[in-house]
Amino acid sequence: MTDTTRILLVAPTGRGKTVAGKRIVSTAYDDGWTPVHFSDVKNDFQSISYAGGASKQMIETMGLIDGEEPHRVPRKLFQPKFLVDDYRNGKPSYIEQFTLGFEDITKSDLMFLLDFNSEPQEQVFDNLLGDLSIEDENFISLKSKLDDVEIEYTNNLKGPIKRTLNSLENSKILASNLRKNPFNYIECWECHDCDEFVWKEDKGEHELNNHDLEEKRAVISLSLKHYDNYTYGDEEKFQFYVAVLMRNFIKEIRRGNIEGPFILYGDEFHEVAGRDTGNLVKKYFQKILDIAGRQADIATILSTQRPSKLPYPQSSDPYDFVGDTTHMFIGEGLNPVDWRKAVNSTNLYGQGDKEKWRKKINDLNQYEFLYVNPEKHDDVEDCPVVKFYSPLVRHTG
Ligand SMILES: [Zn+2]
Repeated sequence: MTDTTRILLVAPTGRGKTVAGKRIVSTAYDDGWTPVHFSDVKNDFQSISYAGGASKQMIETMGLIDGEEPHRVPRKLFQPKFLVDDYRNGKPSYIEQFTLGFEDITKSDLMFLLDFNSEPQEQVFDNLLGDLSIEDENFISLKSKLDDVEIEYTNNLKGPIKRTLNSLENSKILASNLRKNPFNYIECWECHDCDEFVWKEDKGEHELNNHDLEEKRAVISLSLKHYDNYTYGDEEKFQFYVAVLMRNFIKEIRRGNIEGPFILYGDEFHEVAGRDTGNLVKKYFQKILDIAGRQADIATILSTQRPSKLPYPQSSDPYDFVGDTTHMFIGEGLNPVDWRKAVNSTNLYGQGDKEKWRKKINDLNQYEFLYVNPEKHDDVEDCPVVKFYSPLVRHTG
């Protein structure tokens, strides 16, 4: 694994994509990489604790491989409040609820979230923001500043602007307080006296008692469970969280607050950074790719069941998250449109080989993946079929 490692996992749901992803991530963790998950749509990182990412039952069935006994991995799953509210039986204990605050966003973020449908309203509010420091503001302060605006023609705009502010406040996407910075939790310790993981805020207590603390790195995950309640016109709500978290990740690296190497994970990536979606996530993900190797070692692993919906080379989208793939894993049961788009981006999909590719991919069994490495493989015959029960990936990176 290097800072230019770009892994793409493509398979329909239920064909071993999650096991494969967790396998790669936990192997990388053991090798010193810090995993950050930017779209954990099924709370997969909750069970990252076992080496190999396989379930306990699977490890028992397969038999443990030497040196691969399950070991605990410290992890924190952060979930936006508006998605937490969608658990029918309450929030699971492993979820940390959080809301982005005014200190996390920019003025243009706020304008984006408010999404005024009238230009005069937008103009008045934009003027109001003027040279305010957004991190010092909150909903109450903005409403009171709006009351103070004293230009006659604005009076009939104040009501609608306030209603737009109220509706954003009620959506729970942005809060005046309640803030948590997920990246503060990468640094953690294992207390060998208490047999538990300890985060910065509780470290002092263990130190006071002279406990044996071992430095660790935690796995950080943005839980997007229930994102699919928002895929019909409200995508920007969860995409906004992914984008802001990506931006804050870049900020934290530049400030020297966090240090690589990192392996970034994006699941169902076509839903957060798809070809047809807005540019917010795409913009910051591209920035992350741009700083990879220069400011921090950053490998990426993208997972999707619809690679044809990602920005790929020659698509009308100005971005491309497929073309630089160094390790591609193609699962069984994909729509031909999708595996063709993925394979085509590697330049290995020659005119005379189409039938060979089709046959090889159609012959895959459940949980099998065709492994394509454009640097090592010259054509489809070179590409091996792999399974993720055994540590194959360790030898391919
Ligand atoms: Zn302790």
